Amino acid sequence: MTTATTAPKVYIETVGCQMNVLDSELVVGTLKRQGYVLTDTPADADVILFNTCSVRELAEEKTYSAIGRALPRKRSHPETIVGVIGCMAQKDQEHVRKRAPLVDLVVGTGQLARIPELITAARKTGAPQFALSLGRADGGRHEVEASFESYDPARDPQMRPTPFQAFVRIQIGCDKFCTYCVVPSTRGPEQSRHPDHIVNEVRVLVDQGAKEVTLLGQTVNSYAHDHGDGRTTRLSDLISRMHDIAGLERIKFVTNYPKDMTDDLLDAVRELPKVVKYLHVPVQSGCDDVLKRMKRNYTAGFYREMLARCRERVPGVAVSSDFIVGFCGETEESFRKTVDLVAESKFKNSFIFKYSERPGTKAAGRFPDDVPEAVKKRRNNDLLAVQNANSLADAREWIGRAVEVLVEGPSKVGVKTGGPVRQLVGRTMTDHITVFDGPDRLVGRTVTVDVTDASAFTLFGTARTAEHVGVETTREPEPLAPARRIGLAVV
Ligand code: SF4
Repeated sequence: MTTATTAPKVYIETVGCQMNVLDSELVVGTLKRQGYVLTDTPADADVILFNTCSVRELAEEKTYSAIGRALPRKRSHPETIVGVIGCMAQKDQEHVRKRAPLVDLVVGTGQLARIPELITAARKTGAPQFALSLGRADGGRHEVEASFESYDPARDPQMRPTPFQAFVRIQIGCDKFCTYCVVPSTRGPEQSRHPDHIVNEVRVLVDQGAKEVTLLGQTVNSYAHDHGDGRTTRLSDLISRMHDIAGLERIKFVTNYPKDMTDDLLDAVRELPKVVKYLHVPVQSGCDDVLKRMKRNYTAGFYREMLARCRERVPGVAVSSDFIVGFCGETEESFRKTVDLVAESKFKNSFIFKYSERPGTKAAGRFPDDVPEAVKKRRNNDLLAVQNANSLADAREWIGRAVEVLVEGPSKVGVKTGGPVRQLVGRTMTDHITVFDGPDRLVGRTVTVDVTDASAFTLFGTARTAEHVGVETTREPEPLAPARRIGLAVV
């Protein structure tokens, strides 16, 4: 939002996962405390920041294009500070400046708290400023951990998806080292925040109006805080503590690692009414050979058993997954095994990605990226078709049932003409996107919706409210596309 003020303005563009969305909120919160205001255009910004993602090459190329669009502002106002922050900064370091010499700041994921001081230094010296954490092999574990400081100070409600939904980081980094993944390098060693700090942060967020919190971690169910006195707080303990916070209505957590889906966690999900009955548990492939090359540390059989355990211990739970197609050495037979897994697993939805080799990963060094692009594309489409059929069948099972929907805002279809009724959208306790007609005042509230129709990715229905206008929401034509991504970018 642009404001009529002489305060310095910051523009921030964010790509990637929810961890990046949260980082941007924290950076903006810190800069606002320094007197900055947020602007929605780089054309009048004093500081332009690009919070970046390295998981796929496409995301990096888009960022370089976006940096190019900052050039006119930098030329006309050379005092404007342009910064590349986050995963790409940590991974590529000096290379970012080589490709984009206008950049003044290169700040890795573990150094974001230093941005205000780096802006000052760049202005004072006219020299580019680098703030990066250590590489995984650049020191002992504690030294590397310390260089990825956990950054969770100022929160900024203006940067949230909605005023009543907030992300909370409970864990940083990852120690799983899947061979295709840059995250262990860009986000450093796995560290679990102190539960007291997390619970206090959630209390503050609830005081600010948050009704739903989404707990974030690269492998969030690996969360384990060692208190150093023989006690360990696990995710099941953490959500139990959080559950007592008055005013908090929903607790979500993403993204889960299959091997760490423990029974105590599943029991907590079942027993705690505020915890959503939805688990995002990426499997990536249905072929054991591929899983081994990915270094996922489980087999397809293990995943099947875990999935059965999730459904047995949490009746009615919705599960979604991630897949990478066209990974190194994936044959037609390997791919068929993945198709079989998708067909039988009845995921609510799946996020399907074509393998993209990332420099610096183990896979890039060990295995040729030998599946042609056309084959990757075809496998992507084939798998999506199988998943879409399952998603439609899953969604249609909700027709005739009532669901509790936390209303997020107007649907993309927007305002209906001729009255105070909008088409609103929200999510159920099983993370199903639900669309219905209702007045704006329902936004931020939980309403009961009778489901009358369904497409593969959306339930449609009528809300039970005192002012209900008696309009049955009908389905708009929509393309067969995956639902909005809710997990972290990898796992
Ligand atoms: S894919 Fe997930 S679990 Fe594997 S290394 Fe990356 S962040 Fe860690």
